[in-house]
Amino acid sequence: MYPILADDLANLPDLLDVTRQAAVRALAGLNARPVAVAPTVQHEDKMPEDGIGLRATLAEFTRRWEPGFSGSAGPRYLGFVTGGTTPAALAGDWLTGTFDQNVGSAKDSSATALEHETVARLGELFGLRHAGAFVTGATMSNVVGLAIAREWLGERKGVSIADAGVGALGDVTVLSGAPHSSVFKALAILGIGRDRLRLVPTLPGREAVDVTALADALATTKGPSIVVANAGTVNTVDFDDLVAIAELKNRFDFWLHTDGAFGAFAALSPRHAHLVAGLGEADSVCVDLHKWLNVPYDAGVQFTRRPDLQVAVFRNAAAYLGMPTENPDFVHLTPESSRRLRALPAWFALTAYGRAGHRDIVERNVDAAHQLGELLAGHSKICLLAPVRLNVVCFTVADPQRVCDAVAASGEAFVTPTVLDGVPGIRAAFSNWRTTEADVARVATAIMAAC
Ligand SMILES: *Cc1c(COP(=O)(O)O)cnc(C)c1O
Repeated sequence: MYPILADDLANLPDLLDVTRQAAVRALAGLNARPVAVAPTVQHEDKMPEDGIGLRATLAEFTRRWEPGFSGSAGPRYLGFVTGGTTPAALAGDWLTGTFDQNVGSAKDSSATALEHETVARLGELFGLRHAGAFVTGATMSNVVGLAIAREWLGERKGVSIADAGVGALGDVTVLSGAPHSSVFKALAILGIGRDRLRLVPTLPGREAVDVTALADALATTKGPSIVVANAGTVNTVDFDDLVAIAELKNRFDFWLHTDGAFGAFAALSPRHAHLVAGLGEADSVCVDLHKWLNVPYDAGVQFTRRPDLQVAVFRNAAAYLGMPTENPDFVHLTPESSRRLRALPAWFALTAYGRAGHRDIVERNVDAAHQLGELLAGHSKICLLAPVRLNVVCFTVADPQRVCDAVAASGEAFVTPTVLDGVPGIRAAFSNWRTTEADVARVATAIMAAC
């Protein structure tokens, strides 16, 4: 064995303890760390011929790289929709690497059963009876859901698109009101094409689809189609009427894919669960976990009613892997073949904090968004672009990009620019378990000082 590696092995308990101490220091300093850090260009070190061992590597990381890391896991990072990592989720993540299970097939470990249990518990949280699997995030969840939709369109024509290729599909129509950008990316990846997405008008002043307009669009669409319903848009957290869209299935032939990346978490709160009524009617559902479940990147889950079509797309049949059975291994269900036990941080979080703990995170974040909305609405240079519907405040100022930059430069908070209905604005999205009322006050002060 390479002597330095042998040395690390001999000292493993000590080295892990030093690493643990580094993590403890980093987490204790999270609140004081600048929320955003301008990336610096580093002199690139060449690939070393000889290594320096773990202890010296940790010291080098701490010196060269750690100062450039942002406080994005902390309470005042409100860019995009960014979760942090609860203690249990972090422990689960450490142990994922520790046990290093390959959850492709079920034959040599209970890790697959743990992923099934985690998916089932998540299904209970969101009121879904679908089959599901872990993927790297909502983008991949949308890719998988729409891949199944594509296979379903083939089934309607009596052909497997996975076998025959997208050339056999003919023209596809995908209808959606205010889809997330990742839906376009998914359509590009799948060979359906970004241009096949037909935007359906939304309700006046809203991001929720106009269901009458959707019915009209379906009436003029030839053959079966795909509808992407949105449960929680990123700008204003608006929700399509999922019950009404599901009812359209009685009149029209379409696959219903619902993107509930973070909006699905409304189901956890009795105050907001009505927003996702009908979520369970979808043929496939996308939920992100590294946002509002507060597990580390990268984790999302995809749910579907048709695991058989999913296997038709993702099966990886080889003599040494075995053919997919009634209860197919994950190797036959997801884009990856070998895959980490991504479910373990989520299993830890769900076990440690339960439904009540996660409901509390959701409700505190929603309260925080309302608190910030009220503080900003009282400022003469700030104008809310939409009512605070859930966990995002969308507002405008004279020069949004300049204000975002100034807020980031203050190190106090991080918010991201957007455009709503042609109006440039700013979003502040709450999904971190650590955020307190005091943090919201600090964020408001930073934003107002930048205006
Ligand atoms: C964040 C988000 C996505 C994409 O999620 P990733 O985790 O970045 O892949 C898709 N849809 C919605 C509604 C989102 O909020």
